[in-house]
Amino acid sequence: MKLKIWSFAALAFAIATVHFTAASLAAKAQLPTRPSIAAEAAVTGLPTVVTAPLVESTPTPTPVPTPTPLPPRKATYNKCHVAGSEIAMTFDDGPHPKLTPMLLDMMKERGIKGTFFLVGKNVAEYPEIAQRIVAEGHEVANHSWAHPQLTKLAPDALKKEIADTNAAIYQATGIQTTLMRPPYGAINAAITKRINEEFGLTIAMWSVDSIDWRIRNAEHVTKLITEKAAPGAIILAHDIHPSTVQAMPAVFDTLSAKGYKFVTMSELIALDLPEPIRTTAGAQTAPATPPTGTPAAPLAPRATPATTTP
Ligand SMILES: [Zn+2]
Repeated sequence: MKLKIWSFAALAFAIATVHFTAASLAAKAQLPTRPSIAAEAAVTGLPTVVTAPLVESTPTPTPVPTPTPLPPRKATYNKCHVAGSEIAMTFDDGPHPKLTPMLLDMMKERGIKGTFFLVGKNVAEYPEIAQRIVAEGHEVANHSWAHPQLTKLAPDALKKEIADTNAAIYQATGIQTTLMRPPYGAINAAITKRINEEFGLTIAMWSVDSIDWRIRNAEHVTKLITEKAAPGAIILAHDIHPSTVQAMPAVFDTLSAKGYKFVTMSELIALDLPEPIRTTAGAQTAPATPPTGTPAAPLAPRATPATTTP
């Protein structure tokens, strides 16, 4: 009898143990476990330590574009001196979610290249438009993060405006910008020097102001640009105003008919010739453009910053 009880207890214990083990194994089987590197590699097809060929393979790093060595540049360009009929159309304050794609369509249709001075926060909001600008062969450049007057900023705030915009453009497009246009054209010699030296950016001003931010009329914009255009000109417009985008087909077609060739700002700069120097005794070289640091347009800020208008 005693033996029977013990046998029964032993049997019960054995059954319980088997049951418990089976349960825990089943539970374990259900747990998501991280496969070994080799198992993972077998799935992904990646080479492993075991299967890697003896030839040393270098991991593919995140592509960081090396800036193309540029010909020596001036600190600031207000216009260029070219032997041909090249001209640079530049568009500030975008990308705009509706108007920039419309403008890109117009440019694509005509095979026209231009330069877009982008506002960093707009790039962060519409990175896909910045990508499209680059994909279609245009140049992208820095126009600050939030469109302040750089001359009113503390040194750290200035640095942030420039650096954050460079980063947003790089993140969206993989492009390291080489040009910067100060909002409102507000700049001075000290800031120019800093932007040149600290960020390696050339200051890009303009020679023809379409005044499209003030006079929102397509005919006016067309007339002003087509009358003032000249070889080597840098034309300022804003792709955030419907009237400006409306004006562009006529601007492009009229200037093309006159024989102008649209190039990006960097292409225009690469074509820039030394300014003619008059060597008449005692005569000082008369610069065709305002001296560095003096904007080509009035410094008066707009009543409404362009980036706040649709
Ligand atoms: Zn602007």
